[in-house]
Amino acid sequence: MSAAPFVLPSNPKANYLAHREELDAAVRQVLDSGWYILGQEVSGFEAEFAAYLGVKHALGVGSGTEAIHLALRTLGIGPGDAVLTVSHTAVATVAAIELAGATPVLADIDPATFTMDVESLEAAIKAHGHRRLKAIVVVHLYGHPANMPAILEVAGRRGLFVIEDCAQAHGASIGATKTGGWGHVAAFSFYPTKNLGALGDGGAVVTNDPVLTEKARLLRQYGWRERYISELAGTNTRLDELQAAILRVKLRHLEAENARRRQLAAVYDAGLASTPLELPRCARTVTHVYHQYTVRSPRRDELAAYLKSKGIGTAVLYPQPVHLQPAYRDRLSLAPGGLAVTEGVCRQLLCLPMHPQLEDEQARRIAGEIVRWHASGADERQDG
Ligand SMILES: *Cc1c(COP(=O)(O)O)cnc(C)c1O
Repeated sequence: MSAAPFVLPSNPKANYLAHREELDAAVRQVLDSGWYILGQEVSGFEAEFAAYLGVKHALGVGSGTEAIHLALRTLGIGPGDAVLTVSHTAVATVAAIELAGATPVLADIDPATFTMDVESLEAAIKAHGHRRLKAIVVVHLYGHPANMPAILEVAGRRGLFVIEDCAQAHGASIGATKTGGWGHVAAFSFYPTKNLGALGDGGAVVTNDPVLTEKARLLRQYGWRERYISELAGTNTRLDELQAAILRVKLRHLEAENARRRQLAAVYDAGLASTPLELPRCARTVTHVYHQYTVRSPRRDELAAYLKSKGIGTAVLYPQPVHLQPAYRDRLSLAPGGLAVTEGVCRQLLCLPMHPQLEDEQARRIAGEIVRWHASGADERQDG
């Protein structure tokens, strides 16, 4: 058998190579311009990204973590306040809440979409007594939006702000409204492997509210409206001109690349339909952008090892929920009843290779290997 090259679970280099000429030209232009921080590339990207999302304002910042942090601070959330979120997420979501000085409270997730469970959210709010609760950070995980209509209803009734963590959901939508347009403020990450990825760090704060935009703009750079005069006690978290120029190129390809991810998901769906794996689900009115294609199996680790032996890389997002990781263990507040779904899925979810430069042929081969593994009975060894 001829050895096919190892298939990576994500591949930012392949994405760079697919757009190399445009990206090299954009980078060259910034280098030649002599202007490297907060210039026309950043403001151009901000306008284009806001228009793409269908929101009024976008503000480039240094990372997704900083975008969440800034969103919270912009809403006036800080020490003494509690913020609801989930434990099945990038640690960044919880870290950003603590960066703002607030206290995270964690709700469980829905087993169909792996996003915030509305009943668990309500239970957490009731148990906590809502005096100190200020906001909900909702995570749109793996490219599938959380149940925003239901979460906004709860938030409205309880007087809570809603911040969307859109780091895995650039271009996803519920009906006609894209993620980023649902909450009071939203945060995006442009880490290189995201659906819209820079070639370095980057993020954005997004909102329809001009007052919040202005406050976030000040906080982004030392609280300056006028240079060297701090009106607010801010920080430094700027998107740089190089990354903004790169993102302007990549934004032009985002819709096509999200469509490509959906085609690959359809190849996996068809190829894996006969297996006992639980495949990703997509709510009826949702446009999924498949940041990850995540399957669920009680034999997850064996399946990953088998695929690795066949030259196929996979990823586990996330092997441990935030509340069980050493830095957070035994000190975070959980929804009453605990986080049973969260703790269960962490042992069972596996992300198959998924990126826009993956080929149908590769996805078919991966699905074929998984079918063969199940057929060989390898998945039943521990069942009897
Ligand atoms: C990647 C990610 C972040 C953090 O973004 P950075 O740009 O790496 O700081 C936050 N939340 C989620 C859900 C993510 O996937």
